[in-house]
Amino acid sequence: TLNISVNNLSVTYSNAKLALYNASCTVEPGTITALVGPNGSGKSTLFKSIMGFLKPTQGQIHVGGLTVQKAQKKQLMAYVPQSDEVDWNFPVSVYDVVMMGRYGYMNLLRIPGSKDRRLVMESLERVGMIDFRHHQIGELSGGQKKRAFLARALAQEGKVILLDEPFTGVDVKTEKRIIDLLIQLREEGHTILVSTHDLASVLTFCDRTILLNQTILASGTTEETFTEEN
Ligand code: ADP
Ligand code: ADP
Repeated sequence: TLNISVNNLSVTYSNAKLALYNASCTVEPGTITALVGPNGSGKSTLFKSIMGFLKPTQGQIHVGGLTVQKAQKKQLMAYVPQSDEVDWNFPVSVYDVVMMGRYGYMNLLRIPGSKDRRLVMESLERVGMIDFRHHQIGELSGGQKKRAFLARALAQEGKVILLDEPFTGVDVKTEKRIIDLLIQLREEGHTILVSTHDLASVLTFCDRTILLNQTILASGTTEETFTEEN
């Protein structure tokens, strides 16, 4: 199992907007850790930095002891975005979106091998989306899309899974299902970081909690973090 270590991270956007300042924290290996903070507190910015989508202005991030660039080459991190990161204004099936977890966006013409097909089907099964595999991604509801993106992360076999607000716009049954799946993934040795506003559910299933608002305000077991803050 892999940890994530963030050291003195600062991110300034090109419009001089300071999104993160001197943020340091560790996501312990094999835990489900909640990343909690108000809108605009820098949660997505931290995720994008850990994924290597964004170059920090200052500071370092390591995943399993490797720099983000090396960890990215080994596909150690998988990301479940808050909403669509692209406009699906071209026809693409749920199956193909999940296959992107194997091949990325630019290689859809590559021929999948049997392991790829098996992982895609297993991942669709685990999120309960197997019957939707022929549907166009653009036709799905928000909650169904979230499950498809989660299946894509599973197909990628990332050891570290980052989920950006997975419970927004999702019904109670699906939320429960996603939580059960995250618990299973933790048992399988994944390290999971979940950003959320849903403090009630954080208390039920997150081992640890990190409170963020431009910088790290608190970090520890979920009980510790909430008793200190409240
Ligand atoms: P959160 O995910 O917690 O809502 P974000 O990381 O999205 O927070 O945003 C943190 C801050 O950085 C906000 O003030 C936001 O307006 C700003 N920000 C985010 N993305 C960009 C961007 N691409 N360009 C400029 N400012 C941005
Ligand atoms: P097998 O390994 O049994 O030959 P696959 O694993 O490729 O078959 O596919 C299993 C199921 O997924 C089949 O029912 C097939 O119709 C469906 N499937 C395969 N490729 C696609 C695709 N590109 N889009 C949608 N469904 C697909």
